[in-house]
Formats: sequence, structure tokens, C-alpha cells
Amino acid sequence: MGWSIVLDMKGAAVSQWWDRVRVITRSAAALAAEAVGPGPLPHEQAAAAGWSPEPLSAACWRCGASMAAEAVTLQGCPYCLGTQPPWMRIIRLGPYAAPLSQWIQYLKFHRAWAWGPWAGELLATRIADPVDGLKPVVCPVPLHWRRRWLRGFNQAELVARALARQRGWALCPLLERVRPTEAQTSLPLSARQANVSGAFAIAEVDLGGHEVWLIDDVKTTGATLRSCARLLRQRSAGRVNIAVIAVADPRNQAFEAI
Ligand SMILES: [Zn+2]
Repeated sequence: MGWSIVLDMKGAAVSQWWDRVRVITRSAAALAAEAVGPGPLPHEQAAAAGWSPEPLSAACWRCGASMAAEAVTLQGCPYCLGTQPPWMRIIRLGPYAAPLSQWIQYLKFHRAWAWGPWAGELLATRIADPVDGLKPVVCPVPLHWRRRWLRGFNQAELVARALARQRGWALCPLLERVRPTEAQTSLPLSARQANVSGAFAIAEVDLGGHEVWLIDDVKTTGATLRSCARLLRQRSAGRVNIAVIAVADPRNQAFEAI
């Protein structure tokens, strides 16, 4: 009985080791296969497309949904009224729609890394230093190590690093994705919160006196951001804010496919 348990454990460990080798090999192949050659720089493409970040007043400050300014109050908008998100406010560059959505796809799936710093620097211009004495830090939403290996990088970290550098704030990767999760895009909206439940862990830190800017590429249902923000609050963060490149509009038919 005892031996069989030991052998089983060894089998699992070997299997996990091979799994990692396969992922590393796949990651190297993916780097070669998916790399895109040098093309116009992001700011050049954005200028050519006539694109610029929307005004801050185009979205609800609390949930990030596209909303006419007159429909947004100090309590939020009709979407988020009565909800208690674990963050204070959300900053975005625009809705998840072309061409911004296409550039996010380039960043995530075509190794066009430059879109990360581009977005981070633009987001940094929409954020001010806290006026109440809290010390700002920047924390990216993490990927599970396996997905990070497959992709070769964490797109949220690229955005966060540029934002932190631009503002002169500390980049603090405090969160870890301890459980691999199904891609949120593969799940119906109703299953997404359960999918990320317990998927994250946070470092043993005291965030008292700190304002944490939590960074991700896209907010859809907000399930991932809620899980991460709750952990930051559990570490006594004075305030948690969100900055994302884009927010998906729940009224959009393509919402579930993002
Ligand atoms: Zn709202």
C-alpha cells in the first residue's frame, strides 16, 4: 500500500516534469512560428488608423462599461448600481472593438510585444498620483506558469511595467496564478467566476497605506479582476484601482467570445 503510494507520487512527478519539458519545447517552437516581423510601430499604426484614446467620460468610472456621461453618477451607472466591486475605479483606453481589439489580439497571440508598452504608457497619462498620501504600486494580473511558457510572456505585465516606469511607481507582481484555469473565453459567462475561484494566491505582504493599480489587458465579466482585487484587499490595500487596455461591452453579441 505504502509503496504503491510512493510509486504513484513518483509517476505523477515524472509526468509533471515531462509536461514542463513539453511546454518549454512548445514555447520555443511557438516563439519561432508566431513571431511577427518588424512592422509599423504601434503609435504609427494608431495614427494611421486615426485612433486615439476615448475621453475618460465615455465610460463608467466604476465598472468600465461604455456609458453616456449623463448616465454616470457618484454611485456608478445603471450596470453597476448596487454592486460592491472590490475596487474603487476603472481606467481604460476604449471599448473592446476594432481596431483596439485587433491590436490586443496582436499582442496576445502574435507576439507583437510593442503593443504592451504602448498601452501602458497611454494608460499612465490617464492616471494621477494619489492625493491622500497613499503610496501607489502597480500589480499585473498573473498568468499560470504554463500559459506564460506557451505564450512566452505575460501581456498584462508588459502593460504594467510600462505604466509603472512612466509614472515612477513600483512594479509589484504580488499575485500568482496557482491553479491553471480554462481560458475564460471558452466558458459561458455564468461559469467564469467559478473558473477563477481559488486560482490566485498573494504574497505575504502588508499593503496598508498603499494604492494598488491592478493591470490586465481586457475586462469582460470582471471575474478575474474581482478575484485578484479581493486578495489585494485582504492584504489591507488602502485602495485598489483597475487599469485595462479595453473593456468588453456586455451588450455586444461577441462578448462571450472574447
Ligand atoms: Zn458602471
